[in-house]
Amino acid sequence: MTHENLLSLVEKYESPLYVYDAEKIISQYNKLQSAFETVNKLKINYACKALSNLSILKLFNSLGAGLDTVSVQEVQLGLKAGFDPSDIIFTPNGVSLGEIEQATELGVQINIDNISILEQFGQKHPEVPVCIRMNPHIMAGGNTKISVGHIDSKFGISIHQLPLIHRVVENTGMRITGVHMHTGSDIYDIDAFLRATEILFNVAMTFKDLEYIDFGSGFKVPYKEGDIETDIVELGEKVSKRFNEFCGEFGRELTLMFEPGKFLVSEAGQFLVQVNVVKQTTSTVFAGVDSGLNHLIRPMFYDAYHQIENISNPLGKKRFYTVVGYICETDTFGANRQISEIKEGDILSFKNAGAYCFSMASNYNSRYRPAEVIFYKGKDYLVRERETIEDLLMRQTNATLELE
Ligand SMILES: *Cc1c(COP(=O)(O)O)cnc(C)c1O
Repeated sequence: MTHENLLSLVEKYESPLYVYDAEKIISQYNKLQSAFETVNKLKINYACKALSNLSILKLFNSLGAGLDTVSVQEVQLGLKAGFDPSDIIFTPNGVSLGEIEQATELGVQINIDNISILEQFGQKHPEVPVCIRMNPHIMAGGNTKISVGHIDSKFGISIHQLPLIHRVVENTGMRITGVHMHTGSDIYDIDAFLRATEILFNVAMTFKDLEYIDFGSGFKVPYKEGDIETDIVELGEKVSKRFNEFCGEFGRELTLMFEPGKFLVSEAGQFLVQVNVVKQTTSTVFAGVDSGLNHLIRPMFYDAYHQIENISNPLGKKRFYTVVGYICETDTFGANRQISEIKEGDILSFKNAGAYCFSMASNYNSRYRPAEVIFYKGKDYLVRERETIEDLLMRQTNATLELE
């Protein structure tokens, strides 16, 4: 997408605006698929919590992807987008037995991540095949907010509890068709990842009904120049080779699954905002934009870095700016960034706005959530309208208290 493309989309749909480049999504999907091309049965399940717009889901369905879901509502969105239930896996954490049963009724594959629910589910529905989420206790990333494989993580069943799992499986007569791990949101160490796969292979070896092994996600994408990214080609070669060997040891061909979110959609997205005010204090120049933590919370929530570009003046002289939102709370998108000279009215673009941006947006300060557009080969598709006051009032009953 060129700056001209983006500026004309803002003219057409106004700011703030989320724009997703479908070509980038497709190329990321193809890149991942070809990295594992030596594996006969490969299934890439898009983790739709990253970006759950129906048209994005339909795009993944037409690419042949499956869907990774974490709530029964995401399952419903997936079905609405046309996914076959057998192409959807439900990988929740800490949900009720009832919600898992609802997902089962919808016909999707379920993944259970604690022994208590495994036992209850197995007693009631021994005929339903189940995948088990294991915790291999490998730290794949440094940030504990987004690293979910370490010893004190709430995710998965500890590998040390494998004997207990087997007792539950034997007592209930349930069938374990998949084993799963999701070590964290950032794999930058391929050897650490390979160690985790070995642990999962050891677990897999003990389940005779196994059909698939799901290695989760954690593919790291660059957010700024010089960032380390997961070397997908090297990872693909090493994991594929080892997976194919393992299938030989297991005695049957299994399906290799991954469930990336960020890798598939992060870089495809840009979030476009307009500068309302440029304010000089004694030490800082603030650029205040028509958005805030209500639309893009990652910088404030995770200290995430999103590159910011002034697309109205891309060749202008670089100056230092602190880009802030309009929410009545500190909501700094980026402090002391070098950005081409900003005038009021300019359009700024936040990069890597495809994953965990719109899907984490809220109506805080009673603001509308932005519109979303997909751009594909010169054509734009409005896939969500900007909200209106009707949306804010939609579920409110406007009840009046009888005051005494
Ligand atoms: C969030 C999540 C993913 C996707 O993680 P990314 O870092 O976006 O690739 C995959 N699997 C599970 C179980 C998740 O919760």
